[in-house]
Amino acid sequence: MNSKMVLVALVAGSLAATASAQQGAGPAPAAPPAGAAPRGGGLPPPEPIQHVTGNVYKIFGGGGNTLVFVQKDGVTLLDTKMPGNGPAILAEVAKITDKPVTTIISTHSHPDHIGSTDYIRSKYPDVRVIMQENALAELASGPFSKPELKPTETYKDHMTVGSGDDRLELYHFGRGHTNADTFVVIPAARLLFMGDVMAWNMAPFLPSGGAEAIADETEKLVSTVRGQVDIVVEGHGYVNDWAGLERLARFDRALVTEARKAYDAHEAPGVAVAALQKNPDFAPLLDTHIKKGLEYGNTPLARAHMNVNVAYAEFAGEPVGFGVANGAPLPATDKHLGSDPKDTAPPTPEMLADEVSK
Ligand SMILES: [Zn+2]
Ligand SMILES: [Zn+2]
Repeated sequence: MNSKMVLVALVAGSLAATASAQQGAGPAPAAPPAGAAPRGGGLPPPEPIQHVTGNVYKIFGGGGNTLVFVQKDGVTLLDTKMPGNGPAILAEVAKITDKPVTTIISTHSHPDHIGSTDYIRSKYPDVRVIMQENALAELASGPFSKPELKPTETYKDHMTVGSGDDRLELYHFGRGHTNADTFVVIPAARLLFMGDVMAWNMAPFLPSGGAEAIADETEKLVSTVRGQVDIVVEGHGYVNDWAGLERLARFDRALVTEARKAYDAHEAPGVAVAALQKNPDFAPLLDTHIKKGLEYGNTPLARAHMNVNVAYAEFAGEPVGFGVANGAPLPATDKHLGSDPKDTAPPTPEMLADEVSK
């Protein structure tokens, strides 16, 4: 499955399609038990706006988190969820301010983060839309190539937007979750918005590979913004903190280190995950619960297995993509052992019934 098909699967919001693509021709996932939130037909809808700190609010659901920063003369939105959520986003913003939306900053080009930019633009035609410049190539083809989703401004490595208490600092540190990841710091709030490099407090999804790249990227972020940030808002999920981000950076690096050791010793990928599990610091990142709103449909522990598989494929010079090492079990080759299908299997009904918020 190539990266464009990933986007299509994400747009469809279909766990069934995603899970079957991840798992190959395995048995279909069992239906969730009665009373469980529907997971196969789409994402959970946006929830009521929540206060984070100062003039910063968050809207959960409908795709990635939308951060709402109320400024002197207007509102900046960070990410705009899946298509179709524009009215809900603006209705939630209207609960806290009547100021216009003046700026949209997107953390990356995936549809669950830019999908409602066109609607908001239709209501505020002069809105600035800012993305890292590599997003232009990612948006150049497919259903997300329409002009209303494209940025009005791009930057390369760093950009300052606004001044005084309204100031935002945008950073790009190379390839990671995508080729165009943007991290946003709001200095007045001592807050960092992560995009999908940190989501649901687990290692990030790597649809285009980059197990080593993500460790490099996260370390650069930590060293650049250290001392400026207390609150870390994840791209999906919840509000974390500086210690949580430092733990993720250590984990992303340790994952590559342990994967390399196991690969060189001709051990299976699960051996690397078992080594990570020996470190109690990493326990939250290896949790076995399904997280509320996780449309990619698996646990932090399964994600760790996927990312070790990605690292193995990269060490071996094999292709990495959605469903290739990144969800489907890694097949054994002459260069490495394969992974256990159980490690990345779809969640069971019991796991779905045990979904947690954090
Ligand atoms: Zn996302
Ligand atoms: Zn993403």
